[in-house]
Amino acid sequence: MRLASLVLAVTATLSMASAAAADKVLNLYTARHYQTDERLYADFEKQTGIRIVRLEGKDDELVERLRQEGPRSQADVLITVDIARLARASELGLFQPILSRELEKRIPRHLRGSDWVAFSTRARAIVYNKEKIDPATVSTYESLAGPALRGKVCSRAGSHPYNLSLGAALITHLGEAKTEAWARGLVANFARPPQGGDTDQIKAVAAGECGVTVSNSYYIARLLRSEKPEDQAVMAKVGVVWPNQATFGTHLNVSGAGILKHARNKANAVRFLEYLSSDSAQRYFADGNNEWPAVPAVKVSNPGLTQLGDFKADTVDLRKVAKNTAKAQMLFDRAGYR
Ligand code: FE
Repeated sequence: MRLASLVLAVTATLSMASAAAADKVLNLYTARHYQTDERLYADFEKQTGIRIVRLEGKDDELVERLRQEGPRSQADVLITVDIARLARASELGLFQPILSRELEKRIPRHLRGSDWVAFSTRARAIVYNKEKIDPATVSTYESLAGPALRGKVCSRAGSHPYNLSLGAALITHLGEAKTEAWARGLVANFARPPQGGDTDQIKAVAAGECGVTVSNSYYIARLLRSEKPEDQAVMAKVGVVWPNQATFGTHLNVSGAGILKHARNKANAVRFLEYLSSDSAQRYFADGNNEWPAVPAVKVSNPGLTQLGDFKADTVDLRKVAKNTAKAQMLFDRAGYR
């Protein structure tokens, strides 16, 4: 009798434990894939006992997948890059509101929406060929559209989120008419039709195919830290300007996350986002992609970023920028910036 009840008790405990274990999961869709992220996730699992099940994919593919999965989706959290993509996920209704005192306390107001939050920042810098261009002539985004740079500008596609967000930020500061005139001037200055990614533009500038381009800071930092002689040769040829230091500051963008509308493990999702705002996670998250932490008090020691130096960043509310993304797309289309 005694033995029988003991067995029962053990069985009951075991089934409760497995039920609890089933709850201790976080299903994460992420566009990030950096070595340091292993440590980022392992620390969370160790601290909380919540297992992270990851599905990695490209940014736009993950958003499309979530859209198609709808209420059937297993995903709890989406990590993606660029405000244009976070805004798109938000507009598609993929996210739910994030309610967390901790995140409100840790992440600055201009880096949060109602249903997304930024965890690292990157800046859109101007990169120029040191032999061909006087940096004083390319000190602003506006200067890239001036007649002095005819045939000297390289760019990736205008429809890429990085450029759409820059366009949206310019609309926020300068208005639509001036931004459209800017886009037309930029297109008139192209050395070649838009092609490739940011790193390809930097290489084209180094090779002298063009004189100037814009690039996200982490690509520049990555090349600066590279031990490959060919990368070092590229970086010896180019200089970097932080644009618009005398006006609104250099365009800042983000990597961020949102909790999905149909999340089955919502409490775990909130806990994960709060964890991402912790000092140690902020360092892994930012440093893994040569970015800056979103939490102002957290500093990274990254030789590439140190070399790039301090600058005045645009502190415009990214929710305002996000609202102008669709306008930026239409205006770029009209200007032939594709
Ligand atoms: Fe990128």
